[in-house]
Amino acid sequence: MSQAIQTLRDQLHISHSQLFTYINCSLKYWFNYVQRVPGKHSSIALHFGKAIHGALEAYYTALQQTGDILPLSELESVFASKFYQSMELVNVPILYKKDMPDTPSAIFMGNKMLQAFHKEISLDGYTIEAVELPLSAPLYNHNAEPQDIQLIGIIDLLLRDNKGNLVVVDHKTSKQAKSQSSVDEDLQTTAYSYLLAANRYVFPRAEVQGRFDVLRKLKTPKFEQYHTSRGPTDRKRFAKLSAAVLAGIENRVFIPCRSWLYTDCEFSESCHNW
Ligand code: SF4
Repeated sequence: MSQAIQTLRDQLHISHSQLFTYINCSLKYWFNYVQRVPGKHSSIALHFGKAIHGALEAYYTALQQTGDILPLSELESVFASKFYQSMELVNVPILYKKDMPDTPSAIFMGNKMLQAFHKEISLDGYTIEAVELPLSAPLYNHNAEPQDIQLIGIIDLLLRDNKGNLVVVDHKTSKQAKSQSSVDEDLQTTAYSYLLAANRYVFPRAEVQGRFDVLRKLKTPKFEQYHTSRGPTDRKRFAKLSAAVLAGIENRVFIPCRSWLYTDCEFSESCHNW
């Protein structure tokens, strides 16, 4: 972990994924981030996603620093080493999925997805501004008073297009295609837009362009890109939403909410006994 990312995490903070967890099941937030209850299992999808992120980070870092395109074999090797490293760090059983029933099938799928990425990716019309950019910014309460807690986030890739606009790119792996409405409502892009505006990367009233680079987990994987944007109204709504979440945490409002998002919740036993 870089020093900049460690410094970011040392602050009293809340990240997008913590906000997302609270909004979707505040009791899961309580188990995970307040009580730090050890989960009963660890999903293969988590380790898989981290390893793909690691390979793409290596690709863009090499491109930014040296102008070289890493060969596919190197991406595959970074992916495999990050995948094994990530799984070794947990001491609970790994929960495998139908599309990845064991480790070799996950490696096979990851390699095929990286092949699709390597073949399809093009940076024509863009320059790389930053790779894995750590940012933080203050959050406010309902009276617009700054809180001690900072919003933190690490942007996967920040590009500049040939019109001079910043484009926030988020790498995703998914079996399903994304709908435009899910892309337009995605909270993570709004959080990044908030962080960029607060850190003066863009003017307060400027639109921030967002892009999802999605690697689809299919028999023949596909690489797809989805475009969106966020403006000052979205950032204002995000600030209100964050204030509501912080008020809920401060007042210890933690309610179970069963959702399709968490069908394999690692806290189901603690939840049952709650
Ligand atoms: S099992 Fe469902 S309701 Fe319970 S904590 Fe997990 S996500 Fe929330």
